[in-house]
Amino acid sequence: TDSVNLPCIRRLDADVVNRIAAGEVVAKPANAVKELVENSLDAGAKSIVVTVKDGGMRLLQIQDDGHGIRVTDFPLLCERFTTSKLRHFEDLRSIASFGFRGEALASITHVARVSITSKTCDSPCAYKARFQDGKLVPGVGAGGNAKPQPCAGTNGTTITAEDLFYNMQTRRQALKNPNDLYRAVLDVVTRYAVHFGKDGISFTCRKQGQARPDLYTPQRGASVLGAIKVAFGQVLGRELLELNVSSEERREGGREGASGAPTSPSKDEERAVESGRERMEEGRGNAGVRSAQGEEGLSFKAHGYVSNANFNMKKGVFMLFINNRMVESTAIKRIMESVYAPILPTHTHPFLYLALDLPPAHVDVNVHPTKREVHFLHEDELLSKLAAGLEALLRGANTSRTFYGKS
Ligand code: ADP
Ligand code: MG
Repeated sequence: TDSVNLPCIRRLDADVVNRIAAGEVVAKPANAVKELVENSLDAGAKSIVVTVKDGGMRLLQIQDDGHGIRVTDFPLLCERFTTSKLRHFEDLRSIASFGFRGEALASITHVARVSITSKTCDSPCAYKARFQDGKLVPGVGAGGNAKPQPCAGTNGTTITAEDLFYNMQTRRQALKNPNDLYRAVLDVVTRYAVHFGKDGISFTCRKQGQARPDLYTPQRGASVLGAIKVAFGQVLGRELLELNVSSEERREGGREGASGAPTSPSKDEERAVESGRERMEEGRGNAGVRSAQGEEGLSFKAHGYVSNANFNMKKGVFMLFINNRMVESTAIKRIMESVYAPILPTHTHPFLYLALDLPPAHVDVNVHPTKREVHFLHEDELLSKLAAGLEALLRGANTSRTFYGKS
């Protein structure tokens, strides 16, 4: 054909690039909720309240009591690739925060009308501003400048996104079922509420105008188990087993067995456990997990709550956190479900919550916002250890009912 008719190569406008990228990071309201909840956790929030209207398409609001945002940071706050969490590429190895790409807020301002109110503890008042396409929106009145306006408010940050995909017609039309969208939002908030119950963080999720929230985990006495009971009910709560598996299982067990009668740990041992725990909690990178054989061998700690043989559901629940990040692993899910297959009625599934700690170098938690499936070193060995641990637990819990219930 005639080369004269070939279209020439052009540079895309920045706004087009940003909107395309934003549509990938935020494909539906639940993606935005995940990013915003993670920002609140990064800000040290102890209470996170999510409010939603029309499944999040009309309104999505996240309110936290974290450290807030300085008014001087407002101008850069929603620009793409602006962050307070990462400076140098090398820092990525030890990064403890969820975020570091500086893309989430920017993305949301490219596909929704955003307003942000925030107050730091050393500021006498809160500040509020609207954002669009990464930039502060000039205020109305008083010269129409783009300065954040002082207002009343408590310590922390409230981010409101309205009219999601107002500028993406086809996307808006594709996301028509607010019930499905809301279910996905509630699912994300529930997962975080369960996992971060361990840190005493309270979560609330509600539809706007609805008096009773669909999820509320109180801060006082918060725990993973407590949050599971709140979210999934007492019926499941009564049928849960606590799962603990680790790569050093055998050694620990051996020590216990050798000591015979249960002995109380010495002060030194207690202190060792304590400092170990501190190391584990040092940042989300979780450098605390070290293999006895050095860095190369399989090294992991798994803690979880799983339903026993008396409980089943039509659609199973599988909640997986690796080094405190919400992830998915088809391989782990498959093998865990396969342990249940002989003991649950056909076409029913278990409840599984599993928190794994791995040396950061052993897991490829792809931190891109849209990728949740993870892969790790020594995958087969890890899978079989997990399955063996689960099987032993289920077997041991088999008191009143036959373990192989179906035969
Ligand atoms: P990232 O989390 O990757 O840094 P974001 O776009 O999610 O990028 O957020 C940009 C910056 O805005 C963060 O680095 C942080 O400084 C600030 N920020 C966002 N949300 C909050 C919040 N809820 N509380 C305090 N600061 C926040
Ligand atoms: Mg973020």
